[in-house]
Amino acid sequence: MVDHAWSHRHLLSIADLSVADINTLLGKADTLFDEARKRPKKSEALRGRTIINVFFEASTRTRSSFEVAGKRLGADVINISVATSSVSKGESLLDTVKNLEVMRADALVIRHQASGAPNYVAKHTRASILNAGDGMHEHPTQALLDALTIRRHFGTLSGLTVAICGDIVHSRVARSNAILLGKTGSKVRLCGPKTMMPRDAETLGESATVHANLDEAIDGADVVMMLRIQNERVYGPVMASTREYSRTFGLNARRLAGAKQNVIVMHPGPINRGVELDTHLADDVRSVVLEQVEAGVAVRMAALDLCIGANTEIAPS
Ligand code: ASP
Repeated sequence: MVDHAWSHRHLLSIADLSVADINTLLGKADTLFDEARKRPKKSEALRGRTIINVFFEASTRTRSSFEVAGKRLGADVINISVATSSVSKGESLLDTVKNLEVMRADALVIRHQASGAPNYVAKHTRASILNAGDGMHEHPTQALLDALTIRRHFGTLSGLTVAICGDIVHSRVARSNAILLGKTGSKVRLCGPKTMMPRDAETLGESATVHANLDEAIDGADVVMMLRIQNERVYGPVMASTREYSRTFGLNARRLAGAKQNVIVMHPGPINRGVELDTHLADDVRSVVLEQVEAGVAVRMAALDLCIGANTEIAPS
């Protein structure tokens, strides 16, 4: 099989990727995942390269796994925390980026509360930009790591039924996953209360259907992905109470019985145990949440390597 050549110097959204791109990245990540399980070793692939993580929003998994990924590829990785940077003194995003660029950053990994911020920055820099989550828009590496996890379990990303449940409207994870799984030929069921469902939900991905009933969404599903209520992006009343939400839209073992027998339960984290996901179920054998995190390192290694490799604007220092 001839490898499809990767031509993107940035990773901004799943919408920009073809199925061949997705398969190229996942193929590489799959190998890296297996290698890391045997014995995590440092490669020299990005030796002499500099990666800067610029996070304007809180993060545990994404930031640390980008850091581990860069270091495992031999790059120098620097983390900028916005609270202690000059952004807190009023510096603009673009000025921050321009300053990092002249330090010869090869890649900037950006998380920002504004949808479209990484796309905007990408137009003004020679560095590769990797979107680590922008507002309610996209979280491409999350969808790719979810796809890798699903593919490793089912051997395919097509013909599956994937229920994505919770705060769909505010979730960049739901959006990126719906687009990716639609492209690869799986059925996506989006489920949540009306107040958490975008008006155009059916257009998220090629095969999305909308459900206001959790049991209906889960019925016969191969994958159930639960989402946290994105309180940092919620500005009005969206539910009567947390208790009521959890009773109606929370996943527990009894409800999961309606899914396929070999169902997997996913969550991008952070989990609000007892709200969207029953605490026992979060630790159940059907839960793959920690495997998702493991896949995150492999996917981010593949993404950094491919994007920096495709960037003809920069040369190794
Ligand atoms: N960690 C994911 C994100 O940054 C999901 C979440 O925060 O709920 O979008």
